Amino acid sequence: MPIFTRADGRIDLKSLSLPEIEAALTGLGGERFRALQVYKWLWQRGVRSFDEMTNVAKAVRAKLEEHYYISFLEVVAVQKSIDGTHKFLWQTEDGHKIESVLIPDDERNTLCVSTQVGCAMACTFCLTGDLGLRRHLRPSEIANQPLQVREKLDATYRITNVVMMGMGEPLHNIDNLIPALEIYLGEQALNFSHRKVTVSTVGLVPQMQRLADALPVNVAVSLNATTEEQRRQVMPITRKYPMEELLAACRTLPLKATKRITFEYVMMAGFNDSMADAQRLAKLMRGIKSKVNLIPYNENPDRDIKRPPDAVVKAFQHHLVTHGIQASVRVTRGRDISAACGQLGKADPTKSTVEDEKIAAIRIRREGEGYDASRFAFDDIV
Ligand code: SAH
Repeated sequence: MPIFTRADGRIDLKSLSLPEIEAALTGLGGERFRALQVYKWLWQRGVRSFDEMTNVAKAVRAKLEEHYYISFLEVVAVQKSIDGTHKFLWQTEDGHKIESVLIPDDERNTLCVSTQVGCAMACTFCLTGDLGLRRHLRPSEIANQPLQVREKLDATYRITNVVMMGMGEPLHNIDNLIPALEIYLGEQALNFSHRKVTVSTVGLVPQMQRLADALPVNVAVSLNATTEEQRRQVMPITRKYPMEELLAACRTLPLKATKRITFEYVMMAGFNDSMADAQRLAKLMRGIKSKVNLIPYNENPDRDIKRPPDAVVKAFQHHLVTHGIQASVRVTRGRDISAACGQLGKADPTKSTVEDEKIAAIRIRREGEGYDASRFAFDDIV
């Protein structure tokens, strides 16, 4: 795993894999088999200090402390939407703000996780793209999000599914993503089933292959268009990896027999919501084990893009379904707290203090659609 060293010279122990912790422990004169205990303390118990690792010899704990530290995200704010969606605003050690969103549903609670601060992909319709890429998140920062959400919320909100659909392009950060996913899937760590973890991408073709070779997680592709020209207009990455190449890669991706690739399709009125688009999309999906997730655009004051009327979305879905394509419509969640798709990072203009952050977040909500303070609770957990 990539090693992260803090200014004081100590290494982020949570960015080490289990074999690396074994090597570290033996290097410090500890017993190799204790590594598993340390790993569980970190990822299952979520300890914040070495002193809590009571079954590790005191001398070894002291040595660990000398060379390593246990990283955490600082909780800046937790907002709860009227629909039960929770948005977590975190601060990294170097002062960046990132977000995770927990979306409770009838039978599942999905956590939407960030993988970068900002994003370099510059999709024209997405607000996170406005930030540009500030930096990649480390494995520990990607994995601390579910760990710390688990700590904050009670059993009602037990995380059942994880989607890498927060800020950032996960596959642009694949060197940190794969070690992070190993922590997610590790039985001795976060212990999520690979069936419940989804990585969403704009379509970085070589990295999709690399991910599929490394781990059996689900893949979602943000397609959002039905012709090369149309996709190039809104997703600059299409210039590097044309849609044709992307779909060809999807056809041959080594998926488990039971898996399908999810294609996310953000519907923008008058742009990609015509029946001709529906027909082309159905054709593009031929020969791919796919399911399509239609996402009516979440309108916002920063873009002159409209969500298509429900009837248009329904007709589009109907065309796909009657042509043998599995297609669902994503229900918008957490819009009142700027937690919906494409809204993350919006409440993160470069501000210096936590107080400023809160004020900015409130201002942005006020400027947005009909802000009404009574509609959500603003729990401050600093
Ligand atoms: N970079 C990855 C992970 C982010 S997922 C990816 O693009 O797949 C975020 C999803 O939200 C993407 O499918 C994106 O197309 C969608 N999205 C962005 N802005 C949106 C908006 N305003 N309304 C609805 N969906 C949006």
